[in-house]
Amino acid sequence: MEAFDVIIVGAGHAGAQAAASLRQFGFAGTIALLSEEPDLPYERPPLSKDYLAGARSFEAMLLRPAQFWEAKEIALKLGQRAVSIDPDAHVLNTDGGQAISYRSLIWAAGGAARPLSCTGHHLAGVHTVRTRADADRMRAELDGVQHAVVIGGGYIGLEAAAVLAKLGKSVTVVEMQDRVLARVAGETLSRFYEAEHARHGVTILLKTGVDCIEERDGKACGVRLADGSVLPADMVVVGIGIVPSAAVLLAAGAEGNNGVDVDAFCRTSLPDIYAIGDCAAHVNRFADGAKIRLESVQNAADQAAIAAKSILGAPAPYNAVPWFWSNQYDLRLQTIGLSAGFDLTVLRGDIAARSFSVVYLRAGQVIALDCVNATRDYVQGKALVMAGARVDPALLADAAVPLKQMMAAGA
Ligand SMILES: Cc1cc2nc3c(=O)[nH]c(=O)nc-3n(C[C@H](O)[C@H](O)[C@H](O)COP(=O)(O)OP(=O)(O)OC[C@H]3O[C@@H](n4cnc5c(N)ncnc54)[C@H](O)[C@@H]3O)c2cc1C
Repeated sequence: MEAFDVIIVGAGHAGAQAAASLRQFGFAGTIALLSEEPDLPYERPPLSKDYLAGARSFEAMLLRPAQFWEAKEIALKLGQRAVSIDPDAHVLNTDGGQAISYRSLIWAAGGAARPLSCTGHHLAGVHTVRTRADADRMRAELDGVQHAVVIGGGYIGLEAAAVLAKLGKSVTVVEMQDRVLARVAGETLSRFYEAEHARHGVTILLKTGVDCIEERDGKACGVRLADGSVLPADMVVVGIGIVPSAAVLLAAGAEGNNGVDVDAFCRTSLPDIYAIGDCAAHVNRFADGAKIRLESVQNAADQAAIAAKSILGAPAPYNAVPWFWSNQYDLRLQTIGLSAGFDLTVLRGDIAARSFSVVYLRAGQVIALDCVNATRDYVQGKALVMAGARVDPALLADAAVPLKQMMAAGA
């Protein structure tokens, strides 16, 4: 039986970084990185941004140069899926029938795009955007697309809508909630992005449900809405979140329901098994101590380092401040902190000038900032979020006063 000191399942942002961090921190044992995707580890965010637009090559998305893995003696096992784990025997089984033993296992399996469940969800022309293969399928069809319907007004849906609109497609976004980005941002940001998309010719339908995808010649040709009306669509993009990939680990006895539960050191309830990235449910102090999963590159990379340190016997608790970004049109949104649970928002800057920040407060403390074309606020706001600073809202609103000057007053 093949044996590794560490086997990492999933070669996305979290898994690839875990392997790199182990080596960076001096781990000399054997490491295998197993992934069901056939590609070298790559960045996922460009899939709904410049890669989809055809403005970035796949090579430019690689997380590390191809030779890195060999140089660092990290065995890549690509195109292989972990199907079961025997946690007592410390053995993992792959879909190719291989059994691999390990001393430590890092589960970094991310999530799969949540599919639609309505009639027609399997038709050709209906896409999710999670993998390179997904984006390649979309790109291959783009020339023949006139009408695109995006289901879901979250970041991925809106980014895809922006790319499609810039490519000259007629685009409609269908959102069930009464505003876009409802899960992740306050109303100011939602209304701003709705207006920006409208300005670029994108139609946004709010409080609108989908009944089914209509078919012609085995292919999607329209989206029937809950009110019976039909939007013509040669392409349907579904951006309604992910399902964390945790079934194998849960079947092996790990605790969790929304992903896999981990402690501050990324340890699961199973011996010598860690979980990191999109699939790891953890208590996060920036979420007011709630147990959450974060779907971000920051979380994937930071938890990877935590798991590596735990394996090296130098454990350090996960305590990183969340950050995130989204690119749509010429707008660069940068988010620091988590806004869920805010009870007050303060606007800094000028929405009309398309450069502003929304500061979120809870019980008088700064918990997050959404900064649109306002990188200085993003950089300087980090200290306020980390400290949970108490700053007079009137001062926060004064864009002439840099946020870094508010630290002394507010911490
Ligand atoms: C289109 C898109 C745009 C995004 N934009 C941003 C952004 O702008 N900013 C940001 O911070 N985040 C963004 N994200 C989120 C970010 O990419 C994820 O948070 C990050 O990729 C999570 O890393 P991960 O390693 O946990 O999971 P993933 O990157 O999903 O990697 C998991 C890997 O494990 C593999 N796998 C799953 N199950 C198994 C198994 N049983 N056996 C073997 N392999 C398996 C999967 O195929 C996958 O390759 C975006 C995501 C997408 C899809």
